[in-house]
Amino acid sequence: MRYISTRGQAPAVSFLDAVLAGLAPDGGLYMPENWPVIGRDNGWAFTRHFHNSAGIVLGAFGKPDLGEQDEFGESPARALADSAYGFLAADKNWHRAITPLVQIDGGEWILELFHGPSLSFKDVAMQLIGPLYDYALTLRNEKLSVVCATSGDTGGAAVEAIKGSARSDLFVLMPKGRVSDVQKRFMTASGAANVHAIDIDGDFDACQAIVKALFADRNFSQRARLSGVNSINWARIVAQSVYFQVAAHTLCAPGPVDFVVPTGNFGDAFSGYVAKMCGAPIRKIVLATNANDILTRALQTGRYERAAHSHATLSPAMDIQVASNFERIIFEAVGRDGAVVRRLYDQFAQSGGFDIPPQALAFLREHFDATAVSDAETAETMRATWKQSGYLACPHTAVGLRARQQVSGLGHPLVTLATAHPAKFPDTVEQATGMRPPLPAKHADLFSRPERIDTLPNDVEAVKRFIQERSRAWS
Ligand SMILES: *Cc1c(COP(=O)(O)O)cnc(C)c1O
Repeated sequence: MRYISTRGQAPAVSFLDAVLAGLAPDGGLYMPENWPVIGRDNGWAFTRHFHNSAGIVLGAFGKPDLGEQDEFGESPARALADSAYGFLAADKNWHRAITPLVQIDGGEWILELFHGPSLSFKDVAMQLIGPLYDYALTLRNEKLSVVCATSGDTGGAAVEAIKGSARSDLFVLMPKGRVSDVQKRFMTASGAANVHAIDIDGDFDACQAIVKALFADRNFSQRARLSGVNSINWARIVAQSVYFQVAAHTLCAPGPVDFVVPTGNFGDAFSGYVAKMCGAPIRKIVLATNANDILTRALQTGRYERAAHSHATLSPAMDIQVASNFERIIFEAVGRDGAVVRRLYDQFAQSGGFDIPPQALAFLREHFDATAVSDAETAETMRATWKQSGYLACPHTAVGLRARQQVSGLGHPLVTLATAHPAKFPDTVEQATGMRPPLPAKHADLFSRPERIDTLPNDVEAVKRFIQERSRAWS
C-alpha cells in the first residue's frame, strides 16, 4: 500500500515511511492511495480474537505493493499484533477481550477502550506503535526522538509504549496544571530513563504549537531524528479502526451499527470512517464534542473556523481548538483533490477558517452527525447513567452518552465509545455521582512511585536545548 499526502505535493511513500514521518513534507497528512476491502471478506474473523483482527487490518494497510521494495507485510503485521494484544498481553495489562462491549440499555452498548496500561483508548494504538517503531528502527539501524504534545492521555499511552525502548527517546509536553493528577502520574512515574515529561507554561494548543515548530525547523528535526506519535500518525488511525470493525461485526445483525465518538482531534472518529471504507457495517458516526465545538459548528454551519480561545472543561482530553485529522476527511470530501485541500488550509492558516464546499459538506453530513455537550450536561449524564444503569462513565464518555440523546434519527445497535477509565478523573466522577472510582489493582501503587518531571517556559528554543542535551539520536 502506498501513502499520499492530503496536499498532493509530496511523493508517495511506504507504510513504514508514513508511520515514522507523521506529517508529509508538503505539510499534509498521509492517506492510503486506496481503501483495502477488509471487513466484507473477514467479517467472521472480526468476531473472534482482537489480535487476529488487528493483524488482518495492519497487514492490509502495510501490504507491500507489487514491485515495491517494501520492508513490511502481512507476517510482521501479525507478529506485532500478537505481541501487542495477544494472550500474553491480555494476561499482563488488558482485559481478555481487549475492547469489551458492555450493554447499558436495549440495543445500546458501550465499547470500553480503556483497559490498557494507561487506562485510556489511546493505549490501543500506542501499544502497537511501540513495537512497530522498534521493528522499523532495528531494520534500518536508526534511532529516534519521539515528541508529543498531550492534553492528558496521549502522553501516558506514549510513555507506556516507548518506556525502555533501546532505540527511541520520548519527550512529552503537557500543559501545566491542565491534566489530572492520575494522568500526570502516568507520564512522570514510569521510572524509565528514556522518558522525559515536560510541563509547559501554557495550554494544550501552546504545546502543540511548540511541537509543530520543532518539526518545522528542518535542521533541528533532522539532527534529532524527530518523530511524532500524535493522533495524525497513520498507525494510530489504522490501529483504532480495528475496534470499530470488531464491534460493528459483532453487533451488526440485523443491520448496520451507529457509533457515538467523543472527539477532540477527530482521530478516533476518522478511524471509524476508515473501518467503514474497509467494509465494516457502519451507518452514522456521531461526533460528540464539549464546549470546544469546532467540529460541531463545521457540520452545522458549513464553516470550519477556529474559536477565539479554548475552554477548560470537565473533559480535558477534548479541549482542542483545531481538529488536526479533519484535514483527512476534507481530502475525502473534496474527492481527494490535493489542490483544493491546499487552498482551504492556506485560508485556514491566514484567516483561521474556511467554508466547506457544498458537495463536501453533503458528504460529511452523509457519514457524520455532530453535537456539543456542556459541562452541566456532562455531569448530569454521569449522574443519570450511574443511577439508571449502574455504570460509572468518565467525563469524556459521558459527553458521548449525552450526545446520543441530543442527536435525532439514530438507530440500533448504537455503540458509544468509552475513551477513558473513570478512575483517571476521580474528582469529576465523584462530584457528579457520589462514587469515587478506585484505580484498577494493577495501578494501586501509582501514587507511591517516584516522579520525574521538568518545567520549561512556553518557548521553542528552550525545548530544543532540552531535547538536544538528552536525545540519544542526536547527531
Ligand atoms: C484523546 C481523547 C479523546 C479524543 O480523541 P481524538 O482522537 O483526539 O478525537 C477523547 N477522550 C479521551 C479520554 C481521550 O484521551
